[in-house]
Amino acid sequence: MANMIKAPRGTQDVLGNESYQWQFIENIALETAKLYGFEEIRTPTFEDMALFKRSVGDTTDVVQKEMYQVQAEKGKELYGLRPEGTAGAVRAIIQNGLLNETLPLKICYLISCFRHERPQAGRYREFHQFGVEMFGSASPSADVEVICLAHHLFERMGLKEIQLYINSIGCPTCRAKYQKALKAYFEGYRERLCGTCLERLERNPMRILDCKSPECAEIAKDAPLMLHYLCEDCKQHFEGVQERLKAVGISYQINPKIVRGLDYYTKTVFEFVSNDLGAQSTVCGGGRYDGLVEQMGGASTPGLGFGIGLERLLLILKAQGIEIPKPAPCDLYLASIGEQAQIKACSLAEQLRQEGFRVECDLMNRSIKAQMKYANKIGANMSMVLGESELETGKANLKLMKTGEQHEIAFEQDLCRTIYDYNLNEVANALEHQFGDEQLANLFRNAKRED
Ligand code: ATP
Ligand code: MG
Repeated sequence: MANMIKAPRGTQDVLGNESYQWQFIENIALETAKLYGFEEIRTPTFEDMALFKRSVGDTTDVVQKEMYQVQAEKGKELYGLRPEGTAGAVRAIIQNGLLNETLPLKICYLISCFRHERPQAGRYREFHQFGVEMFGSASPSADVEVICLAHHLFERMGLKEIQLYINSIGCPTCRAKYQKALKAYFEGYRERLCGTCLERLERNPMRILDCKSPECAEIAKDAPLMLHYLCEDCKQHFEGVQERLKAVGISYQINPKIVRGLDYYTKTVFEFVSNDLGAQSTVCGGGRYDGLVEQMGGASTPGLGFGIGLERLLLILKAQGIEIPKPAPCDLYLASIGEQAQIKACSLAEQLRQEGFRVECDLMNRSIKAQMKYANKIGANMSMVLGESELETGKANLKLMKTGEQHEIAFEQDLCRTIYDYNLNEVANALEHQFGDEQLANLFRNAKRED
């Protein structure tokens, strides 16, 4: 395999034995979002570079250091592969005039994101996010609804011990005073700041708080906190959020150090953090961005949202030993001997699939022994062999793979009903063994006898 081309560093293949886990979390995410009235949108994977510069911010690490940029033709437009979902979502809702409709507008999305970072556990160059965005409400109830949605979704997946941290990073009014205080503070450390942060010192000193260089992080430890500079309006909003979080019973901690890595945030910012993730501990990040829509050319409209990293979510589920339900196995493997039987198996299998059963038959011209080995490997519940005599009599032995038990049935007439009964019986057994519900189990057992 010396000259084989490999997948790019920091990307992952999701194969058949894992994709059910993705489907599980994606379904729960979309289903939970529906409970809160969020509708899915789909936007392009790449957008104009200017969009990310203007929204995410051209002094952020994401834009300055982590963007994948593409140019189809020299001298033509420069595009960026999306590093997050909010910029594209905001562009789409403005461009499609969705803000002219009844507000609030609630949307959600499942997307792949691209950031040129150093790959490690929980940090990839292509990763996936479930995100939600809400537009039109300035009320702290909106902040709490969005936080509740993330919390609810984690709860439905069975996640334990995930901490919510909140902070307020103010609005342009109070932030101006804060930026001044920050600048004065960092001026004292000019000699030790990295080159990027020296530039940030002039243009956007708050971004220094988010710098990954250990030296800058050390200096930033004692920097003034935004929370001490909030204006009356921002203070009240933050209190309103906390009051509502208490009312719904979601526990939280204030972390005055959260600033978030993207420029568009105002007022509330929040993170959900798990101890099971090691260094990459943040699974969800979000907040309010009241100035963003206007900044992107739309009418002044408050907004807020979050992004959940799906790879990190799966890592936590695994670390916490939460078992994701495996897809139901194959109902029936239809083995065949000879061409006529193979043709019969082919048409019978299709009929049964039309009835909603999972059925497989031989496509490899295997020996009967090899076919049965395959049936075992795919975990089929039942198998049946069709050969010359079976075609003649219309009867064949149906074998329960778990017990080896066999009984003869008229396969044209009774196969469908037999599989159906088998599945009902399995449900009844599960109800009885797992939940001790004998009454309900018997209801299922009896259901199969009535026609
Ligand atoms: P971090 O501080 O870990 O770099 P971030 O603040 O850059 O995260 P956001 O931009 O808020 O992350 O993105 C929201 C979520 O997306 C994160 O909480 C995380 O779960 C996930 N995420 C971000 N970057 C990556 C990455 N490179 N690989 C995997 N997941 C990521
Ligand atoms: Mg990051």
